[in-house]
Amino acid sequence: MSKNEWIGTRVEVLDQGWIELQDVMGDDLAIVNAARVSFMGESKGEEADKKLLFYLLRHRHTSPFEQVEFKFRVRAPLLVWWQWVRHRTWHVNAQSGRYTPFQENDFYHPITWRRQSESNKQGSEGEIDPADAERLWASLAEHYEHSFQLYQQALEAGVAKEQARLFLPGFGVYYTWICKVDAHNLMHFLSLRMAADAQAEIRAYAQAIYRHFFKPILPWTAEAFARYVLKEASAAT
Ligand SMILES: Cc1cc2nc3c(=O)[nH]c(=O)nc-3n(C[C@H](O)[C@H](O)[C@H](O)COP(=O)(O)OP(=O)(O)OC[C@H]3O[C@@H](n4cnc5c(N)ncnc54)[C@H](O)[C@@H]3O)c2cc1C
Repeated sequence: MSKNEWIGTRVEVLDQGWIELQDVMGDDLAIVNAARVSFMGESKGEEADKKLLFYLLRHRHTSPFEQVEFKFRVRAPLLVWWQWVRHRTWHVNAQSGRYTPFQENDFYHPITWRRQSESNKQGSEGEIDPADAERLWASLAEHYEHSFQLYQQALEAGVAKEQARLFLPGFGVYYTWICKVDAHNLMHFLSLRMAADAQAEIRAYAQAIYRHFFKPILPWTAEAFARYVLKEASAAT
């Protein structure tokens, strides 16, 4: 499949989020050719090209990887965006709650309730008891419903959308953003946000980008990334 055939592909994430590839510029060869411009050269055949790309990543000669860019349209709850925007090397534009009213189903319902980790104060591990989970799902649904009613009442009373959203349950609200990043900074994002200590929700987005877009579109880069950055045993051949 050529990289252009991936454009428009949408992958589901969490209960009702998704990632859609809007555009991609460049491929593994673009990285190799960017490095070879140093001596005005281009491709030297598959074996030599792949070897050079692995050399570049292994020795952190990173700028050629910035020649490849990905643009995604992403729907994710605010708790994911809250962490995603810390990555300053992404270029983002966001849906505005000042323009667009929220809908009744724009809220994140987790499929599990994770237990607080004892070893990592930021993290989670395992799941809570099923009986407690049932109760919490019901409470969350009720909370969302009640919040949305208050939001609608404020809108009906003539309050501006920018202020009526104070009634919405912040972290659970889904927003759609357009996000663009180059391959070097995408790898940095993936290495941090696919790690075991990243929050499960953003990890789901990072893993989806890695599996469904990064690996198929940049297969050599993904192989080198797995070997030298993720240090995956299966890639360490
Ligand atoms: C598991 C985890 C837990 C976290 N917990 C917290 C937390 O509790 N509180 C909190 O505030 N944050 C937290 N963060 C966010 C973290 O501190 C970083 O802000 C975030 O991971 C982005 O990393 P970055 O700056 O390397 O990435 P980017 O912003 O994408 O930057 C990439 C690289 O570019 C360079 N760079 C970019 N901008 C600048 C700049 N202005 N000056 C110098 N160098 C720059 C740096 O080398 C940087 O590593 C957490 C992150 C993770 C992964």
